[in-house]
Amino acid sequence: MVASGGPPTSRHLGLDLGGTNIKWAVVERDGGDWRVLDRDQVSTPTADGPDVVVPHLAAVGAEAIGRSPVVTSVGIGVPGLYDPAAGTTRFLVNFPGPWAGRPVAGPVAAALGLPAFLINDARAFGLAELRMGAGRGATSMIGLTLGTGVGGVIAIDGRVHQGHDGTGGELGHQTLEPDGPTCGCGNRGCLEAFARADRIAAACGTGTAEAAMEAARAGDPRAVAGLALVGRYLGIGIANMIAVINPDVVVIGGGVSAAFDLLRGPIEAELRERVHTTALDRVRLVPAELGTWAGAIGAAIHGAEASGRGDPVAARPSAGAP
Ligand SMILES: [Zn+2]
Repeated sequence: MVASGGPPTSRHLGLDLGGTNIKWAVVERDGGDWRVLDRDQVSTPTADGPDVVVPHLAAVGAEAIGRSPVVTSVGIGVPGLYDPAAGTTRFLVNFPGPWAGRPVAGPVAAALGLPAFLINDARAFGLAELRMGAGRGATSMIGLTLGTGVGGVIAIDGRVHQGHDGTGGELGHQTLEPDGPTCGCGNRGCLEAFARADRIAAACGTGTAEAAMEAARAGDPRAVAGLALVGRYLGIGIANMIAVINPDVVVIGGGVSAAFDLLRGPIEAELRERVHTTALDRVRLVPAELGTWAGAIGAAIHGAEASGRGDPVAARPSAGAP
């Protein structure tokens, strides 16, 4: 199919490597329009380490392509740090085993016969929301994914900003309190150290973040106060980013964003307190729209756009990848 005057439609696979599940999506691109053709998920053999997980990722990709043939690129979302040029992982959160320097894009590219590109899972979430979700049409956007950790994403001029090694947009690791609680990254007082799920539960006096939301909805005073405090820190972090980026839209996603209605008030109060450089009525604060599939969809879009741009990549199938 050739759209009138535009490029032909094309199909792209996204794989979202999570600690519990590998989610995948095949998206179709028709000019500037994207749509999801198919998607599914299988469990991740996380405990077996990279020698098992990487071939499994390729096998899941082959299965997906079998269901939606004529895919032309693959994007792989990873929950951590990676080397974009080498297509290797540096560190994956909650994945045991030797993942430092592990080729991932190369073996998947070789197995599928397609160019493969890595992207951080939070940046994949942001790219999906920017093209197909709550950030659609925005020129500049910031996004946060609230869950076990706090992922972040920045888009400028309609593109997700990756930085030189893919860590651009780590909004969760901005310092909010110089001597604040320790963060998993090694710093103190990061936004993530206040707003990740286990710290939300602790602030609310509950066992889990889900229980904190339930308790707050039931009117439990400690949970209401705890979520207000979390919302305050989120608001400070978002205010900082509004000063830096001047975004059209701020998108809040991730599992904890089920509490968006509870967090919105405290976040907006903090923004009114701190943002004086721009008009807040021009900055939309919205929940994400694509749910748990955003990572797989965004990985697919990243592969499509990176291969379309001819981004340098070590993971073309002809590169003699292992
Ligand atoms: Zn941190």
